[in-house]
Amino acid sequence: MKTPLLYDFDFTEFAARIKSWGEPKYRGKQIWEGIYKNLWLKPDEFSNLPKSLREKMGELLTFDVLKPVQIQESKDGDTQKTLYELHDGQKIETVVMHYEREEGQDRNTVCISTQVGCGMGCKFCATGQMGFKRQLSSGEIVAQVIYAARHLQDIGENLTNVVVMGMGEPFHNYDETLKALARLNDADGFAFGARRFTISTVGLVPMIWKFAEENLQYNLAISLHAADDDLRSSMLPINDKHPINKLLEACRHYVDTTHRQITFEWALIEGVNDTPEQAFILARKLKGLLCHVNAIPLNPTRGYHGRGAGSDRAKIFKDALEEQGISCSIRAHRGIDIQAGCGQLASRN
Ligand code: SAH
Ligand code: SF4
Repeated sequence: MKTPLLYDFDFTEFAARIKSWGEPKYRGKQIWEGIYKNLWLKPDEFSNLPKSLREKMGELLTFDVLKPVQIQESKDGDTQKTLYELHDGQKIETVVMHYEREEGQDRNTVCISTQVGCGMGCKFCATGQMGFKRQLSSGEIVAQVIYAARHLQDIGENLTNVVVMGMGEPFHNYDETLKALARLNDADGFAFGARRFTISTVGLVPMIWKFAEENLQYNLAISLHAADDDLRSSMLPINDKHPINKLLEACRHYVDTTHRQITFEWALIEGVNDTPEQAFILARKLKGLLCHVNAIPLNPTRGYHGRGAGSDRAKIFKDALEEQGISCSIRAHRGIDIQAGCGQLASRN
């Protein structure tokens, strides 16, 4: 039988497991802190434990939840992408991004995956182009964050943000994703503040209604990309099932319930959705909603021919929205030379 993955346990389950080995109760907490506070990745690092217990841990738990098979760094050195192999040979990618700040602490963000591939089929997304392979377990999601945090710790940096924007649709793996974030948020462990997480969804409407009821402080982003159903359906097939008016109704409910701002993501595609006309329709639909539009010029992928909007067109789009009272920022490309940008992740090396 394969041994369980270290990061798949929540604390109660973990403590029970350690106790079942005949260990005293305090050991569970001690090991948990080694994992989530000290970020120890191997049994040998648990120098506060007897050797016999370290050996037992190595035999009865799988520590190597993710095996790095390729690490790539962008030319500017600010983006690092890791291709990991999972225990069944499937592969995922995780990206760490460094942002210099003129004032205050620099920002280090990890972009994590929730599935191998994705079944949503968005035309311009490399993950969508590869199709759905399987769900990740909560532990496989957690491990991406812990590994990134440990890497940053080793180079004297801190992890400041987690974005659930890598491979996969988090709301199509809702329970495992929320379990993972809860484990990372746990005050007795990694204690990562809820407001420093952002979940991005393609717009699975029933899950947005459900998420609104959870009373969680995570940030929510919605991949909108078009302001009318014909255009949105042509890029995001899920729009046939969950059209824009239903999606925005769920978003309004979320904002009303949580009083939290919602972000809309918009990959600017030249001549497709970067027109003042789209901006105009969008502004009308978002009127009165506590929201922000995050636009990013489309990143290239093999299976889609549209081009990212140039900076002049992007500026016109942003100005058109802002003139109508909708705040909008244009994000810069990141890690494009190593295909680590939004929508470029896949299981390849
Ligand atoms: N499945 C989730 C999260 C992963 S995708 C979602 O779709 O929201 C993260 C973001 O990258 C989404 O906003 C997605 O629409 C966007 N994206 C996908 N392909 C892209 C591309 N080629 N260029 C720019 N953004 C892209
Ligand atoms: Fe899946 Fe998001 Fe890519 Fe669409 S954009 S295929 S939902 S990962």
